[in-house]
Amino acid sequence: MTILSVANLSKVYQSGSRKLTVLDEVTFSIQSGEIISIVGPSGSGKTTLLGLCAGLDSGSTGSVVLNGKALEKLNEDQRAAVRNHDVGFIFQNFQLLPTLTALENVMVPLELKKRKDARAKAMDLLEKVGLKDRATHYPTQLSGGEQQRVSIARAFANEPKILFADEPTGNLDTETGEMIEKLIFDLNRERGTTLVLVTHDLDLAAKTQRIIHIKGGKIQEDAHA
Ligand code: ADP
Repeated sequence: MTILSVANLSKVYQSGSRKLTVLDEVTFSIQSGEIISIVGPSGSGKTTLLGLCAGLDSGSTGSVVLNGKALEKLNEDQRAAVRNHDVGFIFQNFQLLPTLTALENVMVPLELKKRKDARAKAMDLLEKVGLKDRATHYPTQLSGGEQQRVSIARAFANEPKILFADEPTGNLDTETGEMIEKLIFDLNRERGTTLVLVTHDLDLAAKTQRIIHIKGGKIQEDAHA
């Protein structure tokens, strides 16, 4: 089953009279349960592509069909509903809410789904990522690796069908990076979650089933292992 289908997707930014084409007619699709990585030089459009696939932003032209829903046909509220229901997203810079504790950050998606057991479930997730004892800490009181693990617990909370991760192991020491890697791959093994990873770490990319190379906003190569 196809979980994500991207067709002729372009993104153009206008700055004054200049047009910057960041994504140029990108087409690919992903099957449910696949593990893929997107690699390419800095500025090639990887983060933009991930955001469009996850419904965080919309393209200029083209289409993104995520779990059967054409995102460009939805309004912002409907897109938010798809994100809350189907998608987990791990941001490059964690993007934890600074005024909430680790536990409260993980509770956010659960409360959006009005889960009565939000606190208990969030605590289970923090335990899974090895941070039960940091539940009441605020993001500024956590190391980079700990913040990344909280953001992973948050991304896992709504049991997404597809997980997008932007440089999930970037800026982390090797040991922490390996732990993060295992948590993400385990999600695929245990729940069949589709994984789409943007990474500059070629060792990590080599562990995925398929590598999409992107350069200047275009797909250069789409290689299956
Ligand atoms: P990558 O993730 O491959 O490093 P990005 O998707 O972050 O690339 O960025 C691709 C290009 O789009 C860059 O040149 C960047 O400066 C530009 N860009 C990203 N977001 C915006 C924006 N909101 N407005 C204008 N240009 C942007």
